[in-house]
Amino acid sequence: IVLPTELFGAQRRNSAGVDLSDPLVREPLLERLEALNTRTWTAKPGIGKGEGRAIVSPHDHRITVGTTFEATADEVDRMVRAGHAAQVEWDSLGGERRAQLLERAADLYEEHAEEFFSLCTREAGKTLIDGVLEVREAVDFLRFYASEARRQFTKPLPLPGPTGEQNELRLHGRGVIGAISPWNFPLAIFTGLVSAPLAAGNAVIAKPAGQTPLIGALAIELMHKAGIPRDIVQLAPGSGRVVGGTLTAHPLLAGVVFTGSTETARTINRTLAERDGPIIPFVAETGGQNAMIVDSSALPEQVTRDVISSAFQSAGQRCSALRVLFVQEEVADGMIEMISGAMEALTVGDPSDLATDVGPVIDEAAKKVLDDHLKWLDKNAKKICRLKAPKEAANGCFVAPAFYEIKSLSQLNQENFGAILHVVRFAGDELDKVVEQINATGFGLTLGLQSRIDTVRDYVEEHARVGNFYVNRNQIGAVVESQPFGGEGLSGTGPKAGGPHYVARFATERVTCIDT
Ligand code: GLU
Repeated sequence: IVLPTELFGAQRRNSAGVDLSDPLVREPLLERLEALNTRTWTAKPGIGKGEGRAIVSPHDHRITVGTTFEATADEVDRMVRAGHAAQVEWDSLGGERRAQLLERAADLYEEHAEEFFSLCTREAGKTLIDGVLEVREAVDFLRFYASEARRQFTKPLPLPGPTGEQNELRLHGRGVIGAISPWNFPLAIFTGLVSAPLAAGNAVIAKPAGQTPLIGALAIELMHKAGIPRDIVQLAPGSGRVVGGTLTAHPLLAGVVFTGSTETARTINRTLAERDGPIIPFVAETGGQNAMIVDSSALPEQVTRDVISSAFQSAGQRCSALRVLFVQEEVADGMIEMISGAMEALTVGDPSDLATDVGPVIDEAAKKVLDDHLKWLDKNAKKICRLKAPKEAANGCFVAPAFYEIKSLSQLNQENFGAILHVVRFAGDELDKVVEQINATGFGLTLGLQSRIDTVRDYVEEHARVGNFYVNRNQIGAVVESQPFGGEGLSGTGPKAGGPHYVARFATERVTCIDT
């Protein structure tokens, strides 16, 4: 598809969010949040009742945030059929009308932002700052994919007709898309995975992560309130086995969009390969083993700031997060000391407290994997710094930030999805070997470089097989449309979320040729 680039990005602005540094904004917000934080929430499947399950806060299991009613296999089947029956009409509404409805949903998200802040903190254990970023990104996805519906789905693309025919290409929705979301961005990624296929004219069955269905339920409620028909976007809370399994095996399904682990992506891929029905698109954004390379020309204060946010913001629970820092030998001791000094200043604790930098991890299972890795590091690596678990840890799931030196990246055989940073030293003439080690992981999501040397930057840019390369800044928080996000290899299939090729991936192309 030839992109009319003059239109791309010209139509809209990203959301401004909330400025928490302004006390006139912050103080009244905190008061309102206190009231909101006592509310309980419900997530129900689009059809039927299913079975009830309590959702508790990751930082304090004594707090019940609400109840989720999980969809049964029969309900998922009925949802897919209902979506299938309604989709053609949604597709024929056209790009402009769908864009308006998605934009209306974005406005409603902004009106209900504080409810989302409260839920992000209590259901997902996100800090308030992360909650604000979540809503901003979700709103950006809605408005950006709306502009993509307008750009690509309102007019046919005229094609050359050198022999006198009139040739045109049109994009249409494919049918029902299953959107399977992660808990680490329970609003932003959930909204992105749901709204892109909607923009393309599809019906969507939205499966939120098992840990965060309540945020997903509010999001879908607002989409319905915006005027998106109930059969076109349906919530299917429940387990990966029942809801995910039934959905991906369904013969009427027309595509799957997924963000989560590489292992789950493989399971989905296998199910899709074995099911009856057509061969359908699978868009997966999965894990990473992300590195940052720091050479002797880097600015130490800048490196410290960027390492701290890349490795520890969101308790390290971003797939973009920094896991392995490569530092040139000559500056390594100084850099390691500055980073561990800055780590000591981090506050770990209750995510609804504004002073908290690092909140809890999502659940016991996540904590166990990280604790096991820390045990392994205690035996096999050199401990540089490890913060203490906060007093809240008694009732919740916390893994305090840790920093260890290892000999080589190849010692790590899996992604560790938390606030654990590893450092490896390298000699100045070994940049090529560093890049080789990074490529050898098979992942290819984010890579940071801190260097003032253009030839170093050019070398890394040319040789590293990663989706998002960040130079002299942190490596998290990709901005919709400005920094389309997603990796290659074990990190995902592409196309990139928030990028110019994403929405069209959920469409089918039809060409009409009219002769005179
Ligand atoms: N897009 C997010 C970022 O740039 C990460 C998404 C994820 O963790 O899946 O930080």
